Amino acid sequence: MNRRTIMIGAAAALATPALLRATSAAAQAPAAPAPLAQAPGFFRQRLGGFTLTMLHDGSRAIPLANFVRNAPIEEVQRTLAESFLPTDTFRIPFTAPLVDTGRHLVLIDTGNGAQPAGSPVGLVAANMRAAGIDPARITTVVISHFHGDHINGLTLADGSAAYPNAEVVVNEAEWRFWMDEGAAARAPEAMRPAFANAANRFRPYQGRIRQVAAGAEAVPGIRLDAAYGHTPGHSAVHIADGAEQMLYVADLTNRPELNGRRPDFHIVFDMDATAAEATRRRIFDRVAAERMRVAGFHFPFPAAGFMAKDGNGYRFVPGDWSAAV
Ligand SMILES: [Zn+2]
Repeated sequence: MNRRTIMIGAAAALATPALLRATSAAAQAPAAPAPLAQAPGFFRQRLGGFTLTMLHDGSRAIPLANFVRNAPIEEVQRTLAESFLPTDTFRIPFTAPLVDTGRHLVLIDTGNGAQPAGSPVGLVAANMRAAGIDPARITTVVISHFHGDHINGLTLADGSAAYPNAEVVVNEAEWRFWMDEGAAARAPEAMRPAFANAANRFRPYQGRIRQVAAGAEAVPGIRLDAAYGHTPGHSAVHIADGAEQMLYVADLTNRPELNGRRPDFHIVFDMDATAAEATRRRIFDRVAAERMRVAGFHFPFPAAGFMAKDGNGYRFVPGDWSAAV
C-alpha cells in the first residue's frame, strides 16, 4: 500500500464522475483492502500551567479464570457485564501519563516496551512520536512499581535506554524489594523472572536512578505517594500546579469497572491483596470526597476522569473529551 494507491482508494470512495473518469484505468486493478488503522492514541489536557498527555500503550486480553482470587467467576462475570465488558476474557488497557511542567518533561510509567510486529501493546513510543515528542527530550521517568507492563518500555529491543537523557525516579522500598538478591532467591520459582526483568530494565540507567521516600517530589509539582499493597513500594503520583491537581493511581485498581466497582475483589497481581484493598478504599474515598481528578494505568483510554462513591465501591466517570487543549 503506497501513497498513490491510498489516494486512488480515497478518490474511488468519493465516486464523483469526474474523479472516476480520471482514475478509471488505475481503479480497474484490484487493490487489497487496506488494514484499518486506529487514530493515534494520545490525549492532551491542561493541569494548571502543566500539559498532561495521556499516551496509550494498547490493550491485551488475558484469561478471566483465576484473575480474581477471592470470588467465584460468575460473580466476576456479573460485575464485568454490568459495564458491558466481555465476560469470556479480561481486556486490560494500558495508558501512561506524560507531564510537561515547562521545566521538566516527565513520563510516568513506560508501558510494555518493544514487541514483535503486530503486537497489540507496546505503543507508548509510537504514540509519543505521534504527539510530536522526541524520547530524547524526556528529562525524568517516574516508575510507579516494577511490574513488566510499567518498566519494560525503559529499554529498546537491543536493551539500551529508551530515554537516553532521563533521570529515573523510583520509590526506595520498591527498589529495595526488587533489587534484593536474597528476596529474588527466596521468591517462588514463578516470580524469579520478574526480578531478573527489573534488573535488566534499570541496568542502562545506572548512575541516574534516584530512589526517594514516600511523599518526596520527583520534580516540583510531581510527588510519589505511598499506595502500598499491589507491590511493596507501589506509588500513586500526585501531579499539581497551583490549585489544580490530579492523582495518577497507577495499579491501585486494575480496570475500575472490575475492582473499582468491587474493591473487595483480590486480583492475582496484588502481591499483598489485603493491604491493596485497604489502600484502594483509603485513596478512592479521598479522591471521591475531594472530587479530585484521577488517572489510572489500566483505566479505559484516555484513562483520566473521576471516581465517584457508589454503594460499597466506586464508579469511574470519564473526564470530558475536548478537541481544544
Ligand atoms: Zn500494571
